[in-house]
Amino acid sequence: MITLGEGETPLVLSRRIGPRIGCPQLYFKMEMCNPTGSFKDRGMVVAVAKAVEEGREAILCASTGNTAASAAAYAAHCALKAYVIVPRNFIARGKLAQAIAHGATIVAVDGNFDDALRLARELASCHPWALVNSVNPYRLEGQKTAAFEIVDQLGEAPDMVFIPVGNAGNISAYWQGFVEYHRAGYARQLPRMMGVQAEGAAPIVRGEPVANPQTIATAIRVGNPASWQLALKAKEESKGAINAVSDQQILEAYALLAREEGIFAEPASAAALAGLLELAQKEDLSRQVVVCIITGSGLKDPDIVQSLPARIVEVEARIGAIEEALGLR
Ligand SMILES: *Cc1c(COP(=O)(O)O)cnc(C)c1O
Repeated sequence: MITLGEGETPLVLSRRIGPRIGCPQLYFKMEMCNPTGSFKDRGMVVAVAKAVEEGREAILCASTGNTAASAAAYAAHCALKAYVIVPRNFIARGKLAQAIAHGATIVAVDGNFDDALRLARELASCHPWALVNSVNPYRLEGQKTAAFEIVDQLGEAPDMVFIPVGNAGNISAYWQGFVEYHRAGYARQLPRMMGVQAEGAAPIVRGEPVANPQTIATAIRVGNPASWQLALKAKEESKGAINAVSDQQILEAYALLAREEGIFAEPASAAALAGLLELAQKEDLSRQVVVCIITGSGLKDPDIVQSLPARIVEVEARIGAIEEALGLR
């Protein structure tokens, strides 16, 4: 009964990066094409539908940005109030713009995402609001549909799925989706789940919470993921891995996606590709079907583009001046 058009996102074959790194069957799952520009909409539509069904008047979430943008949009769609708790100074401008535009009440706390999530859980326990973080099981139920779609689009499950890991809900949801689809007989095989964290925010890789997570990829700037155990289960059951990449590697992958594929992804999404680029140096991927999840849009974090060299020529409004500036005369 409720939809903004989430899901059914394209699966795009890599034209340049895949062939160059010896992985010709590399695909990008374009989750940035969801209505608010990230995969969060898949889970949010279910969580909000359930909040409406339960007669709630407001929803609440902690967020590094995209959950807030999505919650705010679906709350507006369903005439609910939205309260979003975000870490002050660590939310990308585009995401904040979305929450503001949709009329959410924004609480910017002096702390990180983990502090915000703890506060949101406490608030939800003493106010009649639906908590719509990925600790809400309806979120994962919605997000698992992306795994169904990938199998439908390829005709079989891929061999590997590279996915950024922050609060670790999404990797858990994908694994649940692949397992359910496999059990239902729609896929013969299961993929290896390849989670990627940022080096400065890699609690699962290190095996202990990170008190002060740091990375330019704010969507995965999480020190104590809520779905930690589910993510480990996904990694172990799938014979996958969870590895870390540096911010430098993330920025390089971000530039490659934009300049060699035409995909303007946000830094957290580029982390997935950075993880693949590293593995491609060590493993033969020539026969592997690999999917990188492009979790969110680069438009959300316009400040990061300053890390790329820009080609801008400033000229008088005269054809001769343009030709001169371009070296054509
Ligand atoms: C939320 C988010 C992630 C991390 O997903 P988790 O479920 O928190 O692990 C990665 N990329 C983007 C763009 C996100 O919005």
